[in-house]
Amino acid sequence: MSENSVFDRLSGAEQLRRTLIDAASAARQLAAGVGGEKGATAAAMTHSWLFTGPPGSGRSNAARAFAAALMCTSPTEVGCGTCQNCRDVMADKHPDLVHVVPTELSIGVDLMREKVVGPALALPTLAHWRVIIIEDADRLSDGAANALLKTVEEPSARTVIMLCAPSTDRRDISVTLRSRCRHVYVPTPSLEDATRILLAEGGVNEEAARLAAAATSGHIGRARHLAHSAAAQSRRAQVLHLAELVYHKEAAFQEVGALVKTVEDEVKTDLAPAEDQELDKLRNAFGAGVKGKGTARMTKGMETEVKALEAVHKKRQTRAKRDAFDLALIDLAGLYRDALLKASGASIQLTHPDFDGLSTDLAGKNTPEALTDCLEAINLCRESLGHNVRPVVALSGLVGRLRKACQVQ
Ligand SMILES: [Zn+2]
Repeated sequence: MSENSVFDRLSGAEQLRRTLIDAASAARQLAAGVGGEKGATAAAMTHSWLFTGPPGSGRSNAARAFAAALMCTSPTEVGCGTCQNCRDVMADKHPDLVHVVPTELSIGVDLMREKVVGPALALPTLAHWRVIIIEDADRLSDGAANALLKTVEEPSARTVIMLCAPSTDRRDISVTLRSRCRHVYVPTPSLEDATRILLAEGGVNEEAARLAAAATSGHIGRARHLAHSAAAQSRRAQVLHLAELVYHKEAAFQEVGALVKTVEDEVKTDLAPAEDQELDKLRNAFGAGVKGKGTARMTKGMETEVKALEAVHKKRQTRAKRDAFDLALIDLAGLYRDALLKASGASIQLTHPDFDGLSTDLAGKNTPEALTDCLEAINLCRESLGHNVRPVVALSGLVGRLRKACQVQ
């Protein structure tokens, strides 16, 4: 495996790499007409795949690396990482790669027909294979899963479908879909692996990669975001700082308002480019700006559609904000966990090594029981946010409970 191999960005499971490299090699021979359609070579390649692994394990990365390996043109290696096809697939801009990333809670039947069932029938344009990756396939509606079934069952000869889901549990993927796919499990990477993956992707130094991997417990997507986004880094520092402010009454309650604003602003900034793009696309579809007959009517129809799209955006923002607050609270819980383990005398890898001073301080001031109460208070706050309690209210309640647990007068 060369230094640039697309598989270098996968977690350390050797068996996973072996399976994918073998399948991609078989696919290459199949494409070249070696081994025959029904031979042993054909058997090593499958058209429908299911990648499972916990969120953050990098299951969609594994699917994308496999897609690159299938399209790779290097004569000596599958998934060289340097040929045009490998680079375009890894950058998510190859014309033969259809990558469905759901932004809504549920993937509907229309999206499935338009994005998957239709394209699955078409021949690839540049590469030998057309690859369709469906992320978060656990969000398929029943209708969408049914629409997909035939495609997965009998994909056209040059189409490969890859579904990504948390597990093979029937709640995550329908039994019928599951039974028609070859399954590969993508384990959560170790901190070492996560660090190596971030370094292989580039743009960060080793210290930043290590810290991001630790602070997100090896969750690749979150680690990547933290390593590259200054906003995410300062938001993390802000939420961890709350544990210190708990000892300064007014300041802690004031900080809650600031923190809510930071989190909400971060979400808005993250979503804005996609939202603008969707609005532009819609306006263009209506020929906005075109003068003449029919403009008034079009404008009215357009207005309705724009409103509908804005409603979708609002829903998406609500969900993204809820996720962002939840992740912020997981960060904070990591700090109290560090303190608890220190107070119990355990020697462990810290979740927040750069806040070593603060967790040591918390461990010195509080008993393990008090720190456990703090962790429970954080869980309670996560639950109330899940029940749509306003963030300011939920977080103020949390500050009150943390003060009580830490016996701050
Ligand atoms: Zn290549």
